[in-house]
Amino acid sequence: FNEVKNYDPEVAGAMQDELSRQRNNLELIASENLVSKAVMAAMGSHLTNKYAEGYPGKRYYGGCEFVDVVENLARERAKELFGCEYVNVQPHSGAQANMAVFFAVLNPGDTYMGMSLDHGGHLSHGSPVNMSGKYYNCVPYGVNDEGFLDYDNVLEIAKECKPKLIIAGASAYARSIDFKKFREIADEVGAVLMVDMAHIAGLVAAGVHQSPIPYAHVTTTTTHKTLRGPRGGMILCSNEINEKYNFNKAIFPGIQGGPLMHVIAGKAVCFKEALSDDFKDYGKQVVKNAAALAKALMEEGFDIVSGGTDNHLMLVDLKKYDLTGKEAEKVLDSVHITCNKNTVPNDPKSPFVTSGLRLGTPAVTTRGLKEEDMAAIAKAIRFTLLDQKLEEAKQLVKELTEKYPLYE
Ligand code: PLP
Repeated sequence: FNEVKNYDPEVAGAMQDELSRQRNNLELIASENLVSKAVMAAMGSHLTNKYAEGYPGKRYYGGCEFVDVVENLARERAKELFGCEYVNVQPHSGAQANMAVFFAVLNPGDTYMGMSLDHGGHLSHGSPVNMSGKYYNCVPYGVNDEGFLDYDNVLEIAKECKPKLIIAGASAYARSIDFKKFREIADEVGAVLMVDMAHIAGLVAAGVHQSPIPYAHVTTTTTHKTLRGPRGGMILCSNEINEKYNFNKAIFPGIQGGPLMHVIAGKAVCFKEALSDDFKDYGKQVVKNAAALAKALMEEGFDIVSGGTDNHLMLVDLKKYDLTGKEAEKVLDSVHITCNKNTVPNDPKSPFVTSGLRLGTPAVTTRGLKEEDMAAIAKAIRFTLLDQKLEEAKQLVKELTEKYPLYE
């Protein structure tokens, strides 16, 4: 950091402000986390200098013998962590991993199914503004009025549209996903099952969510959410499936050029951390904290979609208040609680306004917060959104951020 400060004070100033923000705010964005200093050091390293198009042992550039070691470590650790035979650690992001699977499995115009964005799916699962919705024919499925996935309905839609691929996985779904059921549906209609476990990868690694690996033909993920690694993506499957679709070729030269070797080093460090017993405790605590926060919010009077959570996140439904998700996000930010507005099922408002908030516990759990602290967060949220007691809310947040300091 001092190097940046000496050479470029403008960038250093913004970096310092962002560090203060991360220290002073309670981070409740469900897709964010706080990486270890070791992961950060690997990312901010000289490995960024190296071009390594291709794969270990088969590169298009010289001088790759040491980055080969790094990529092999990342691959072997990921295989051990998730119990799979094939992994590609090169996707620059989760969206890239998804795009590579589309590129390998589908042809433009083919029909597939994904969870609709306004029911909790991700942009890259068929949104009309995304490549996944423009180049392919996406038939969406969603949740029922209670906010749960309706597997019978998924099967009904699948029988009707005969998709070549079905995506299971979400960005804003608080309940466990039954990958076995999804596989049965896929088998019944002859579709490939792709699971995007981006949000829950850390929970899968810690053994607190069913693993998709035994059920999915192919699994994609990000590495920076509950898995707590660097910003990036990954593809996992069996050797047999990879022989059929060749995901290596889909990533490079299909949709990417040179891999980000510094990020792959960060992934390797992250997987080592995720293999530890500490990480299993972390995953359990993330889920316990989310359950405690949902319960405490309901006790404060808030409606939670589906009445609770099985994982790391929850959706607060604000429809009964004269308050939009957009307004709630902004006022919470003013008391140093960071979260994001989110549509709730059957939301009358647009995705830019919304009637809900998505809250998650991965980052605050990394900081060390426990169940009893969730009650204080719920209280601070009530003070802010319902009671106009902004100073009292700020004080509660300050007590928590001081109790659990970050990056000392
Ligand atoms: N898949 C899911 C389920 C996600 O929630 C996200 C991001 O939030 C992505 C993919 C995309 O990841 P990235 O932002 O790394 O492209």
